[in-house]
Amino acid sequence: MIKFLDLKKINESYEADFYEKMKLVLENGWYILGNEVKAFESDFAHYCGTKYCVGVGNGFDALVLIFKAYIQLGKLQKGDEVIVPANTYIASVLAILHADLIPVLAEPDLKSYNINPGLILKKITPKTKAVLAVHLYGQLAEMRIINEIANQNNLLVIEDAAQAHGAVLVESGMLKGENKKSGNLSNAAAFSFYPGKNLGALGDGGAITTNDAQLAKVLYSLRNYGSQKKYHNELVGVNSRLDELQAAFLNLKLPDLNQDNQKRREVASRYLAEIKNNKIILPFWNLSENHVFHLFVIRTENRDELQKYLLENGIQTMIHYPIPTHKQKAFSDWNKLSFPVTEKIHNEVLSLPISPVMRNDEVSFVIEILNRY
Ligand SMILES: *Cc1c(COP(=O)(O)O)cnc(C)c1O
Repeated sequence: MIKFLDLKKINESYEADFYEKMKLVLENGWYILGNEVKAFESDFAHYCGTKYCVGVGNGFDALVLIFKAYIQLGKLQKGDEVIVPANTYIASVLAILHADLIPVLAEPDLKSYNINPGLILKKITPKTKAVLAVHLYGQLAEMRIINEIANQNNLLVIEDAAQAHGAVLVESGMLKGENKKSGNLSNAAAFSFYPGKNLGALGDGGAITTNDAQLAKVLYSLRNYGSQKKYHNELVGVNSRLDELQAAFLNLKLPDLNQDNQKRREVASRYLAEIKNNKIILPFWNLSENHVFHLFVIRTENRDELQKYLLENGIQTMIHYPIPTHKQKAFSDWNKLSFPVTEKIHNEVLSLPISPVMRNDEVSFVIEILNRY
């Protein structure tokens, strides 16, 4: 059986180091916001190329806290509209709601599956104050255009980078050599270290990256009960701290992130070159480092039939995602809305196995079985 994602295998090579680090943390006796979190915040900021990184409890909290911090700073107000892709994981939309802001859904582009910048323009009203750009499946949203639209309309841009650790916006022409990574392509970015993400912990974890000193200051406080000095609470904060042990594990894995992403791109390159079946639509990729292939998502008309066929042949797949946000029970007010591109994507997508620990013969097998379908 080829697993969709073999997390045990991904973490196996770190086993001895994990135990050693756990022993160190245990012996050190400091379990919340200690040296491991500090080291991770410094190294992850450096990795992303940003001035600041704030470790938090998970990716969802990272998003909510960015919005709450902007409200605290007076740059957003309750009831402001935030444009977000209709085609995303539900967390992006929930985060906007939980910060007392209004999510405004916009259709994606059928080629990239990311938000269609032209449709952002159409959704702008006097109440629009921000765009939440999601780098879906690991591929950067069209950040140059999105930032330009935001500049012209006085909007904040926030990245949901939960699926795109290490993706690079490769510049050419006059900007050649000015490459920037996800997390450094907007006002502030949210990352998740959920175990299955490209940089995954052994539990929940998240972070915010930004170059904005004021925002970072508010975030360091908000995540810790609104307090920077123990028992002095200057803001109405929450408890959402990156766990010291999870930070210790992430410190061990971060140095391998680029190489892991490269391995994912190698698997993706083979899928793209060798899957030849006119029933299957392969993802678009311009071969640059702008994609870290958190997921390799194909489309086909008879998705459930293909999934069953693959499983019968020993290949596990997943669907990201089966039900769009606006069709979820939780959003009954939106159930009648129509987002045809989003709905088409949700009806047709299937995610193939991809990971840095997938062997070449496994990739060959998936290709062979798909070509026989
Ligand atoms: C995983 C994910 C999140 C949420 O991260 P958690 O750490 O699970 O809270 C948010 N947005 C997207 C696009 C994600 O894939």
